[in-house]
Amino acid sequence: MGVDYEETKRKLIEKKQELGKMMEDLLADASDVDVNELSSLDTNHLVDSATNMINREEISGKLESIKVMLLDIEHALAKLEKNKEKFGLCELCNKPIEEQRLAVIPWSRYCIACKTKLDKRR
Ligand SMILES: [Zn+2]
Repeated sequence: MGVDYEETKRKLIEKKQELGKMMEDLLADASDVDVNELSSLDTNHLVDSATNMINREEISGKLESIKVMLLDIEHALAKLEKNKEKFGLCELCNKPIEEQRLAVIPWSRYCIACKTKLDKRR
């Protein structure tokens, strides 16, 4: 029972690195798009820029969700450092977050019930 802090911390750091790498890749993709756009003065130009716009939206959407996730991970890591006893507790209702949920998403801030409520409010 209880949370394995060391294991959780390791998972969080691993995920953080993975997301950082994903972000780099996406940014590299995004700059590729720009270069293509500047140099594409041929007949495919219109098609290309339409595709580029979709790509760019997709990329910025992905970057946005990665950023949100990174913030949650930072938050969870800070909590592990300074506020261990609060880790694994829902930030809204203060009840323990479901263990299966924490196993999959160690940076969860809310229990399933609260998260569902929050998602509905949006
Ligand atoms: Zn809750």
